[in-house]
Amino acid sequence: MSLLPLRPGPPRSARPDVDENRSWWTLDRPPYVPSPALRENVVADMVIIGGGFTGMSTAWHVARRFPDRRVALIEAREIGNGASGRNGGMMLNWMNGVSSSEPELTRLVYQTTKGGIDDIVSLIEAEKLAVPYRRDGCLELITNPQRAEAAAKEVQRLQSWGISVEWLDAKEVRKYVRAEGVYGGIFDRSVGQVNGLALLRELKKKMPENVVIYENSPVLKVEEGQTVLVSTAEGSVRAPVMVLGTNGYTPRLGYFRSRICPMHSHVIATDPLPPQAWEALGWGAFAGFCDDLDRIAYGSMTPDGSLIFGGGGNYAYAYRYNNGTSYPEQAAQAGFEGIRRRLVQYLPSLEKLPLRRAWTGTLGVTLDRSCTMGVRGEYKNVYYALGYSGHGVTLANLAGKVLCDLYSDNHEAWKNQPFYQHSLYPMPGEPLRWVGYQLFTRLTGRSPRRRS
Ligand SMILES: Cc1cc2nc3c(=O)[nH]c(=O)nc-3n(C[C@H](O)[C@H](O)[C@H](O)COP(=O)(O)OP(=O)(O)OC[C@H]3O[C@@H](n4cnc5c(N)ncnc54)[C@H](O)[C@@H]3O)c2cc1C
Repeated sequence: MSLLPLRPGPPRSARPDVDENRSWWTLDRPPYVPSPALRENVVADMVIIGGGFTGMSTAWHVARRFPDRRVALIEAREIGNGASGRNGGMMLNWMNGVSSSEPELTRLVYQTTKGGIDDIVSLIEAEKLAVPYRRDGCLELITNPQRAEAAAKEVQRLQSWGISVEWLDAKEVRKYVRAEGVYGGIFDRSVGQVNGLALLRELKKKMPENVVIYENSPVLKVEEGQTVLVSTAEGSVRAPVMVLGTNGYTPRLGYFRSRICPMHSHVIATDPLPPQAWEALGWGAFAGFCDDLDRIAYGSMTPDGSLIFGGGGNYAYAYRYNNGTSYPEQAAQAGFEGIRRRLVQYLPSLEKLPLRRAWTGTLGVTLDRSCTMGVRGEYKNVYYALGYSGHGVTLANLAGKVLCDLYSDNHEAWKNQPFYQHSLYPMPGEPLRWVGYQLFTRLTGRSPRRRS
């Protein structure tokens, strides 16, 4: 034990760069009234930065487990403004960056994420949240004959380990969707799609009284110590414990600058499909699909029949010099067009279908694409869960439970998880980071995804 008094680190100046959520999920929602901004100096037991799945699920679990502790959550704009309110909506199993060669680890990861989806669905049902969702399965489409052979074997291996995914050959895939260039598919019936923005807004209504949410309050400075002081333009929160629920935006707060790369991801969406479009697509009862390429293409169908589609090539993703986390709509037009072309390659019958919305969201990507959840800082009072690398709907909702257990010092159950206090690899700073991104993406633009 050190006899020297622990000194707080220097204050971290945040440089918020948070643009408006223009996603399809914001359309046709009941009018939303944000909570008042932070305009006073507050003392709390926990301060959470970020009102996405990570921040809101942490507030939910901590406030319910400790009804006498005050939780303050600070969001730069409105809750669900980040990736949680802009994503493809797919609630998926597995964790990015974790390989499936070990039966025990594979079972653990699958059961954990399946349990995470169970939790989302139970929350919606138990709290009677008005959240559109479906849980009728997703398909991974295999787009090359050799990879189809390997994927069929992989399914057999997974089944022998007790994991209930199914292999569909090309003909069987067409019973779900008439997609072109597909040689088979891996079907997982336990996954689905959820409207993340609705989930957060509905959850906010049910938040226990010991949580206070401040919206339109970008954090500008963090001063660590035995207590942490988090300041905005007009107020501050002092608390013994802070939670970073800022995923891709985290480097702008001065944390994980060399470990998290903010990546911009473009997405498009249609209006509810007319009956003739449904017929031409042959869409069966299932929530969505992705392909097997590294610049993953994915499409999901909302319960009212709108198709959300993203990814598919380098044009669908971008990195902005020096960790920029906003993206000008004008600069994304070529990306939107590239995504539309990829959509039509897979589903030619949608050629003439007008798009209703196109938007961009910020992901937090790590070098090995694994996320991490843990606690850090000289006083071990800065909790974090981040780096989901585009696969965070299930995991960021699970993060609240994990961080609450860590905070309660009751975290044995999570110790074998790949994300538990996982050390992220460093990435080079600028200008090497930008150059490295350009080179890497050009060299690997059409590569198959490493199977996990
Ligand atoms: C386009 C897109 C599609 C995706 N599709 C899928 C998918 O289909 N399936 C899947 O599993 N995952 C998907 N993801 C990933 C998934 O959405 C994320 O991993 C997850 O939502 C991360 O949640 P979070 O709460 O950690 O971060 P976020 O939702 O990004 O929340 C961070 C919050 O912090 C706030 N903030 C930032 N800076 C400050 C500051 N200085 N002060 C106060 N607040 C601040 C932001 O406004 C934001 O609300 C997608 C992501 C994107 C962008």
